[in-house]
Formats: sequence, structure tokens, C-alpha cells
Amino acid sequence: MTFAATILTLYPEMFPGPLGISLAGRALEENRWSLATVQIRDFAADKHRTVDDTPAGGGAGMVLKADVLASAIDHARAAQPDAPVLAMTPRGKPISQARIRELAAGPGVTILCGRFEGFDERIFEGRDVEEVSVGDLVLSGGEPAALMLLDACIRLLPGVMGAASSGTEESFEQGLLEYPHYTRPQEWEGRTIPEVLRSGDHAKIAAWRKAMSEDHTRLRRPDLWERHCGVRDRSASGARRENEDQGQ
Ligand code: SAH
Repeated sequence: MTFAATILTLYPEMFPGPLGISLAGRALEENRWSLATVQIRDFAADKHRTVDDTPAGGGAGMVLKADVLASAIDHARAAQPDAPVLAMTPRGKPISQARIRELAAGPGVTILCGRFEGFDERIFEGRDVEEVSVGDLVLSGGEPAALMLLDACIRLLPGVMGAASSGTEESFEQGLLEYPHYTRPQEWEGRTIPEVLRSGDHAKIAAWRKAMSEDHTRLRRPDLWERHCGVRDRSASGARRENEDQGQ
């Protein structure tokens, strides 16, 4: 099955961009995913092809018009009824690896890219659109956010990463950051590779990696660590409850 990506944008020439090379580019050639761009401006109703207007209430910048956006969304949805529509906005729910996995397992995704000050808010009431943020930072447009989101999906598609890894050991997959990696030379500028990694003892290596993963997460991302511990404790008490229910 081909993962179908549809991008609603004022700058279709930005695609596939970096997704046309390396892993994603090869996957595109192999039809593991497909790309369609929709020029939002084609859905403007007036002869000047206006897509934006000044903000109600005043202030800087321009706002993308709800009527134009709705026509573009309806067009994309008719072509791809099963794909969720995601709008790129810093006001959206922060994207997570868990959501990326869900998307990658589905038929594809339709991504609406904003520009200027963003979207007329009524589009989110009038259409079933998922508001997604790629982080607490402000881009000049939704296109780089869409490229980032798509890249994360594409590398998870069957056959794209090859046998190298299913990605399940990576950062965020277990709610933790990944352990550190090393490669030759054994000594570089007086720094050596941790001895355990050269021991050949796979159980010891796995234990070391798990400990590093936990340490790094605790120190660098206390937010992730707290959530990880919460999930762990909840599932442990859930298991206890189940045992009690069964009279064990
Ligand atoms: N005025 C808006 C920012 C608009 S930036 C605000 O303060 O919330 C212009 C466009 O860039 C947005 O419509 C959105 O599509 C995109 N964009 C900017 N930052 C983003 C982010 N962190 N995540 C996803 N999209 C973003």
C-alpha cells in the first residue's frame, strides 16, 4: 500500500524538496509513498486570486481566508477521504512519535500549511482538522513543519529503513531518549569507547544501554522521565489489580 501525502500550500515548489533525496527520495521512486501538492490559491474565488485578508480587530500581518481554505480542504478530502487532515500551527497539539506511528500505519495524510499570521480560526470549527505543532518555535510557514512530519512518517513505512532497524529502540519509542552511540576509532583525542561495548556480552551491553537511556532522560528531559515513571507505575499497579481480581 502506498502512503499518500497531500500538501495544501501556497508554495508547492517546496515539495518534495529534501524528501526527494536519500531514504525518502528512494522510497518515493519505489512508490512506497506518493506526493500530491494542492495550490491553495487555485481555490480563491475572486479574479485577483486572493487567499488572505487583514486581521479582524487590527494588527500586523494577513490571515488566510476560511472560505478559500475550506474549498482546498474539501477538494483534498474528496480525493483522499480516509486520510486525516492536519493543519500546521504553533497553537496545535505538539506532534509525538506515537502520533507519527499511527499516521504512518494509516492510508496517508493531508497537510495544510499556513503562512503569514496563520488561519482564520473558523476553519477549525467548520472542518474536521487536527491542529498540529512541531514544537514551541515559530516558523515562517507550515511547509518546513510538513516536511518534518512527513519525513518522520516515511522512515517508518515498510521497507524504507531496510533491515537496519525497526526504529523501536530509538529516542521516544519507549518514552525515553536513546542511549549514546560510538564507533571506531577506539580512541579519539584521548577519549575511549566505554569498555562494556567491547565486551561482547550482549546482556551486559543491553543493561548498560538501558541505564544510559534512563539516566539521560532523567537529566535532560525531566518531563519525559516523569511521564515514563507515571506510565510504568500505572501499568505495575494495573497488573497488581488484575492479579487481585483473579484472586491471586
Ligand atoms: N501568528 C501565528 C504564527 C504564524 S507562523 C502564531 O503566533 O501562532 C505562519 C505559519 O507557519 C503558521 O500558520 C503555521 O502553518 C506555520 N508554523 C509556524 N510555526 C509552527 C510550528 N511550531 N508548528 C507548526 N506549524 C508552524
